[in-house]
Amino acid sequence: MNRVYNFSAGPSMLPLPVLEKAAAELVNYGDAGMSVMEMSHRSPAYDVIIKKAEADFRKVMNIPDNYKVLFLQGGASTQFAAVPLNLMKTGKADYILSGQFSTKAYKEAQKYGDAKAVASSKEDNFTYIPETTRESFRPDADYVHICYNNTIYGTKFNYIPDTGDIPLVADMSSCIMSEPVDVTKFGVIYAGAQKNMAPAGLTVVIVREDLLGNARPETPSMLDWQLMAENDSMYNTPPCYAIYVAGLVYEWILELGGLEKMKEMNVKKAALLYDYLDSQDYYIAPVKKDSRSMMNATFVTGVEELDKKFAKEAEKAGLMNLKGHRSVGGMRASIYNAMPYEGVAALVDFMKKFAAENPKA
Ligand SMILES: *Cc1c(COP(=O)(O)O)cnc(C)c1O
Repeated sequence: MNRVYNFSAGPSMLPLPVLEKAAAELVNYGDAGMSVMEMSHRSPAYDVIIKKAEADFRKVMNIPDNYKVLFLQGGASTQFAAVPLNLMKTGKADYILSGQFSTKAYKEAQKYGDAKAVASSKEDNFTYIPETTRESFRPDADYVHICYNNTIYGTKFNYIPDTGDIPLVADMSSCIMSEPVDVTKFGVIYAGAQKNMAPAGLTVVIVREDLLGNARPETPSMLDWQLMAENDSMYNTPPCYAIYVAGLVYEWILELGGLEKMKEMNVKKAALLYDYLDSQDYYIAPVKKDSRSMMNATFVTGVEELDKKFAKEAEKAGLMNLKGHRSVGGMRASIYNAMPYEGVAALVDFMKKFAAENPKA
């Protein structure tokens, strides 16, 4: 079987055992005589699938009972609008700008109220996580929004902002389930599933119950978290198949030993790559060390032609999608849960070989 190592930022690799299980069940799920793709979302068979997925997700993330889990559509980008629509009671919200997605979220919120950028690392091309203290935030802000892991730049929050009583809202699209997080520190966590959880099409929202019921009157029904919660994510047809695959991924994580185990594996993979980057001077890693992401690592050669050649030759070696985001260039290796250690080892070997064969003028 010719499976490549896929370093794509998303959609990205899924665990092989998950794909194999999905394949085995593709045409006939259990004794249903049909595929999960063909099932009514209101059928008893599907009811078991979605309830088990939610229960397992709660176990994986250690989500307390006073939080709702919503399985929605529209991607994390739709939540950029849903967040202000559901949470802006007085119309004020504070945003930390640590990259492109947090900036998009901030701009979306400005359509609905007084969204303020209270900290930003834009002047340094988002190569670090801005520091904040409780005094950084307006005491009457309805919430504070952060993007916990910045997929494009390869940075991750190295602290949880102290917002006092103000609910903290986090976009965790590219780091969810990569390590344990204390859900109680957040009012809302949301994530598009296609980075570290499932195929594209599913967006998960974890929301503390006391924050529900404040949606602005003009909020579209499909973006109203309370309505979605009251209907157990079945107000309309949910992304049935993506939820099913997410369920298989939750089972895979639990079988391996949960998020402690994911963290152990991810720390090892990231260390292998960053230790190599720090040991040489052919490649440059632009991110400040204390802000490095464990999921997305960015690096450049400093020569545009060589960066292009790197991504092209890597593909010939079965190392796919290493080209950096179109807005920053260079290279990016996304090493989510499903990327095996061997994949990162193969990348580091390739980097050494490429550096030896392509001296800089
Ligand atoms: C990919 C990504 C998004 C955008 O997700 P969509 O599901 O495509 O809307 C938003 N935030 C982060 C952190 C991401 O990595």
